Parts: sequence; structure tokens; C-alpha cells
Amino acid sequence: MHIIFMTDLDGTFIGHDDFSFDAISAEVSDLIRNGVNLIPNSSKTANEIDELCVELGLCLPFICENGAALINSDLLIDRWPYVTDKKANKTFTPSELAHEWEHSVVSNHKNYCIFLENLNSKEHAAILGLSAEKLALALNREYSSLLIFEGSESQYTELCQDVSRAGLALHRGGRVCNLSGAHDKADYCNGFRATVGNQQDTVIVGFGDSDNDTALT
Ligand SMILES: [Mg+2]
Repeated sequence: MHIIFMTDLDGTFIGHDDFSFDAISAEVSDLIRNGVNLIPNSSKTANEIDELCVELGLCLPFICENGAALINSDLLIDRWPYVTDKKANKTFTPSELAHEWEHSVVSNHKNYCIFLENLNSKEHAAILGLSAEKLALALNREYSSLLIFEGSESQYTELCQDVSRAGLALHRGGRVCNLSGAHDKADYCNGFRATVGNQQDTVIVGFGDSDNDTALT
């Protein structure tokens, strides 16, 4: 049987507060040695996940910035030829997102949003729990923008609906919300499922800890 573990990182694969994977590193090594395919699937940037892979001592395929891109897909092609770097949904750069946010998202609930780019480095560190190089890697985003939402749940739901009508997506992770193109963590999962769905011997298991991860299940 082929097993794919598709996992969120913060609060799932690594600790929410210390960002450590020490507690599970031995088990992860055993799983991989026994043929389990581990695919991190995170809102983190490609450079952040690359850094984590170096710390793990593993070269892994992974999905970054909420389904924006699949990196190291060549590691999967032998077994799942479907896998490519192509995506059906459009990705947006942060400057394109800012333009769409201003011109296409009309909800007044935008007033409850604080984009991290408008905060200082001390505030970045406090919100993301990171510093120095790791903080820089987290803020250097290619396909998404980070924000804090300070309104109510119902206002958040309405804002998400408006964002969706504008052709974008708003996802909430463990620390911040993530504005991006209309893609999410499940996009590549659905592609995998479409490909391996007829293969009785392949199982995809999703792991996560926040609203942002429900798409994996
Ligand atoms: Mg998480």
C-alpha cells in the first residue's frame, strides 16, 4: 500500500510555540524509511519549508502558501505521473493582491483588517513568534499577504464571501489570516485523489490543526 501523509506544519508537524519537531523526528524518520510519502502542505513560504527540510535532513515534495505551488514535484513523478507544477487556479503576487483588495473587495469589514506589511518588525515578531532570518523568510511571500482580522465571526464570514466574489481567498491559520488567489491547501490533494482514486492501494491522510486545514480532510 502507498501512503501519503499530507500535513500542515505549524501546530501539527511542528510545535505551535517552539516550532520544533524534535518530539516526532525519530517517528518521522521511521515512517519515511518504511515508505510513507510525507508532503508538508502549509501557508508557509517555499523558503521557510526548504529551511525546515534542511533541519530535518530530508528532501521532500511540499506545497507552500496555501496551495499556491508544489515544490520538488520531481520526487513524486515516478509514482504519480499526474503530479506537475501546473495549477488550475490563478495565483496573485502581493502587489496584485493589494490591487484586487482595493478595487474588487467592497465589504466594509475590510476596516477590521490589519495587514502585517503595515506593522513594524517588533510587531511582526510578536504576531508570528519568529525573529531574525526565520521572520524574514516568513514575510518574503510570493503568492499571499498576511493580515489580522479584528472583527466578529459573522463579519469574518461575510468578508470571506466578498473576497471569494472578488476571485480571491481568505484563510485563517493559527496566528494570522492569509489573503491569496482562489486556491487552498486541498487543490493538490484533489489532484492526487483524481489520479490515485482508482488505485486501491493508495491512501492520502491529511493532518492539521486549524480552519485552514479542513480542506485537507
Ligand atoms: Mg497549523
